[in-house]
Parts: sequence; structure tokens; C-alpha cells
Amino acid sequence: RKIKVALVGLGRYAEYMAAQMKDCEYCEVAALVSGTPSKLESWGKTYNVPLKNRYNYQNFDSIKDNPDVDLVYIILPNAMHKEYAIRAAKAKKHVLVEKPMAVSAADCLEMIKVCTANKVQLAMGYRLHFEPFNMEMMRLGQKEVFGKVRIVEASLGYFAGEKGEWRLNKKLAGGGPLMNLGVYCVQAGRYITGEEPMAVTAQYGPILRKELFTEVEETITWQLEFPSGAICTSTTTLSAGIDRIYASAENGSFELSPAISYGPFKGRTREAEFDFPTINQQATQMDAISQILLENRTMPEHISGLEGWKDLKVLEAIYKAADTGTKVKI
Ligand code: NAD
Repeated sequence: RKIKVALVGLGRYAEYMAAQMKDCEYCEVAALVSGTPSKLESWGKTYNVPLKNRYNYQNFDSIKDNPDVDLVYIILPNAMHKEYAIRAAKAKKHVLVEKPMAVSAADCLEMIKVCTANKVQLAMGYRLHFEPFNMEMMRLGQKEVFGKVRIVEASLGYFAGEKGEWRLNKKLAGGGPLMNLGVYCVQAGRYITGEEPMAVTAQYGPILRKELFTEVEETITWQLEFPSGAICTSTTTLSAGIDRIYASAENGSFELSPAISYGPFKGRTREAEFDFPTINQQATQMDAISQILLENRTMPEHISGLEGWKDLKVLEAIYKAADTGTKVKI
């Protein structure tokens, strides 16, 4: 049996995801949810999704009566994740949410609560937890292969931004690049040290394109402090390209650049390069989550709603630190 997936929001990432899912063994695109009838029509043809499995945002709740759907994958603008996760859970469907999980930690807790109450699983679309180069960075850090990690530098940025896009709209995105890209850097700090940050300082960068960045930051830099004494410094921006994770431990260092995109990646320790195959991250993520559901196993914590909530707590603290110019405890 395959897990039958409903994709909610047929934008750019959903398009990429659906194409990559053709390689999946344990799941398939079975239903589509969109506000645009022409997209439902063309995607329906491409992915062989019958009319009865095509929904709009108004009739979405009737998905509860559809046995052709096991898992609802929410790939909408960030601020819409909460509403659709809750509606999916109330329809008794398992829920998979794109990053960031929501636009506040309180919203994440509510999503977790509703999923638990409706006895459905809640997973995060954290594709890097299945990506071999990043998994190696986790191993090198958490297993203390080079001793205790002291410093992580994790940054992600692109030169991007178009007038009118939801990513620049505070209400829909919850913030700027910190919400969309910075969440990966927070993840890197957490999965390399294996610790939860306890405090943060942060600074907004300059606004270079004033016509675009009227509501959200263009650049933000922050410093996380971990209980062991490790620190993680990060910058995320929409005004320059950067994609790297560097970790320095007591007896060596290890790094990836590129680190966070879809690959190919480059990794090395102080001594030598390390190499892994470039995998289909999306298909691997979807198959792994589907196998967990098929075998009735509990979602591992590192890809669960709890993980998404932990990240949102950190993102909120980063904004508070940048807004107040003070060190904020997490
Ligand atoms: P997108 O703008 O391409 O797609 C968003 C979709 O939501 C569109 O189809 C749009 O029509 C629909 N939508 C419904 N209501 C809307 C509204 N009120 N305003 C704007 N759009 C609305 O965005 P995307 O790049 O596909 O991002 C969607 C989600 O996926 C985001 O949460 C993003 O962070 C996440 N994402 C994850 C990855 C990854 O690698 N894991 C990559 C890209 C995006």
C-alpha cells in the first residue's frame, strides 16, 4: 500500500515536490487543493488526480469523507500553515507542514494540540534530516568525533525579492528571511551541537532596497548560546548569496558549502573532503515519512511538530533580541 498525499497550495515548492515524488515507492500524489481552478485542471491531468480528489479552499474540509487521502501536505504561505493543519487534523488526516511550521510558537502548540486530540500524526518537511551531507554534519557534531563543538557558523541567503510577493508581507510570512531561510540556520546550530540554545543576541542589517523591504527585514545576524558553551552565529539575507555551515570543535573542524540547497553539496573536515551521493531529498523525505505512517510508528521527534515548535521559539527570541538590542533568554 502507498500513502496517499493531498498537496495543499500548488505553488513553486509544491510543483517541485510533486515532480520529485514520481520517484517515491511508498506514497503518491492523490489529491490537490488550490484556489485556482485552472491549476487543479492541469495538475489533475499531469498527476492523474480524478475530479473527486480535487478541492478548493472552501470545500477542503470535506476531505474527511475521502478514503483516498491519508496525509495532507501543507505548502502554503507560512501564516496559512496553522489554519490548514488544524482543518486537516479535524478531517482525521495525518499532517505534514512545510517550514517554518507557523508564524508563532503559540500557533505551533495549538497545531500540536489539535493533531494529538484528533489522533493524527504531525510531521515537518525538514528535508535536510534525510540528506547525507547534513546527516554527516549531525554525526560529526553530536558524536563529538572531533571533540566538543565550540563554534558553528551557519548562514543562508539569496539575492531575491519581488514587489507584492508574500515573502515580503509580514502578515503572510511572519517576518522576512529569518522565517524562510533562517530557520535552516537555527536547525543547523541545533542539529550539530545536539543542544537547545539558551540565549540569543541579534542585529538587523541595513535595508538596501527600501521599496521592497517596507514590512520585513532584508538581513539579520544573530548569535545563539548553548548550554555547553558552544555558540552559533548566523546571517540570513535576501540581498546576497550565501549557503554554508562551518563547525569548529576542540580537535578539528567540518564544513559544508553549499550546505542547505538541493545539492550537489561539498563537504570537508580539516583533513579531507567527504563525499556522498546527491539524493532526491524530496522523495527521500516523503518515503521516510510514509513508511513511518504505514508501519504505525510515532513520528521521530526531530521531524515532528515538536521540532517545528522548538525552532519557532528560537526565531521569536531572535526577533525580540534584534528589536530590543538586548540578550534574550530562550
Ligand atoms: P509560492 O508562492 O510559490 O506558492 C504558494 C502557493 O500558495 C501558491 O500556489 C499560491 O497561489 C497559494 N496561496 C494561497 N493563498 C495565498 C495567499 N493568500 N497569498 C499567497 N499565496 C497564496 O511559495 P512556495 O515557495 O511554494 O512556498 C510555500 C511554502 O513552502 C512556504 O512555507 C515555504 O517556506 C515552503 N518552502 C519550502 C522549501 C523547502 O525546501 N523545504 C522550499 C521552498 C518553499
